[in-house]
Amino acid sequence: MICPQCGTENADHASFCGKCGRELEVAPAQPEQQAAPAQPVQRTRPDKLVRCSDDKQIGGVSSGLASYFGLDVGLVRLLMILGLIFGTATFWVYIVLWAVLPEEQCGT
Ligand SMILES: [Zn+2]
Repeated sequence: MICPQCGTENADHASFCGKCGRELEVAPAQPEQQAAPAQPVQRTRPDKLVRCSDDKQIGGVSSGLASYFGLDVGLVRLLMILGLIFGTATFWVYIVLWAVLPEEQCGT
């Protein structure tokens, strides 16, 4: 932080020049202009693949997969639906996952 008046080098955090006392143009602490935009609720990411009992449309498999892979649950559901439309494998994958995965709370 160089004093614009006398050219003295001051500490970066100094508010006033140590030599001439001129107020230094430190970046003012930004007042919170507005409340921070609401952060989407951070889902606790499970370290294992589970079905989310607290967020399920059918069996919670999609939300469990979404949580596990960090994907949007809507995207997973869309892929599931597309898979169901274009082939039957997805259906069986879903059934198998539904059968084998433990059901747990995935929310906060
Ligand atoms: Zn100065």
